[in-house]
Amino acid sequence: MPLEVDVLTLFPAMVEGPLGESIPARIQERGLATVRVHDLRRWGLGRHRTVDDYTYGGGAGMVLRADVVAAALADVRRPDTTVILLDPAGSVFRQATAHELAGRSHLVFLCPRYEGVDDRVRSMVDLELSIGDYVLTGGELAALVVLDAVLRLLPGAIDEASVAEESFAAGLLEYPQYTRPADLDGAAVPPVLVSGHHEQVRKWRLRESLRRTVDRRPDLIEDRALTKEEARMLDELRGDGGGTDEASG
Ligand code: SAM
Repeated sequence: MPLEVDVLTLFPAMVEGPLGESIPARIQERGLATVRVHDLRRWGLGRHRTVDDYTYGGGAGMVLRADVVAAALADVRRPDTTVILLDPAGSVFRQATAHELAGRSHLVFLCPRYEGVDDRVRSMVDLELSIGDYVLTGGELAALVVLDAVLRLLPGAIDEASVAEESFAAGLLEYPQYTRPADLDGAAVPPVLVSGHHEQVRKWRLRESLRRTVDRRPDLIEDRALTKEEARMLDELRGDGGGTDEASG
């Protein structure tokens, strides 16, 4: 069964553009997912299809009306639907949530603009997601970030080995990768990678993955149980005086 997705937005073209390119487009062409984008004004009120109004109590900006959202959700919601509100106050989106959402059958993304939503909308949704501690002009880019991360996890979407080894898959950042040329003006590829010795390559990658994570995202290590091999490598790295991941920080 393909994943079905409905996106509710005031700017459909903002969402359709990126989804019509590259891997997200191919995923849809291959029938792994169906994405429908709806203009929220379809549920707008009156001759002008109004969707927002002034905030009670006074203050700058317009707020997306709860009755408009309720009407839109009444049309697109099914018993198996997960409705997601993009909002800076939502829980921060992580790879684990992407995996969870990739296992659902129907996702609805609600993308507010301006000052956000009437707070009563929160009780109409299943999940509130933020993509980070900063403020965007609208939910479209945030919905695209979440959707892109979910689509590529659908079975058959991309090479399963890439998904298994990439950053966050095992709770660590990915190891460094290189391609030709083997020597770039004196900057050589680590010799072990061209040695053809699979076990040594595996160990090198695990060590570098740990080194990069300790250097750049020590919080990930704190949140994760380590295997004996990882704990030993980490001790060695710390004994060496920590990481040497030059591009960090
Ligand atoms: N007044 C809101 C506040 O202070 O939390 C900010 C509204 S923002 C200008 C407009 C919309 O952009 C939000 O309702 C939300 O849909 C989206 N948005 C902004 N930043 C976001 C973030 N970090 N993650 C997810 N959505 C975001």
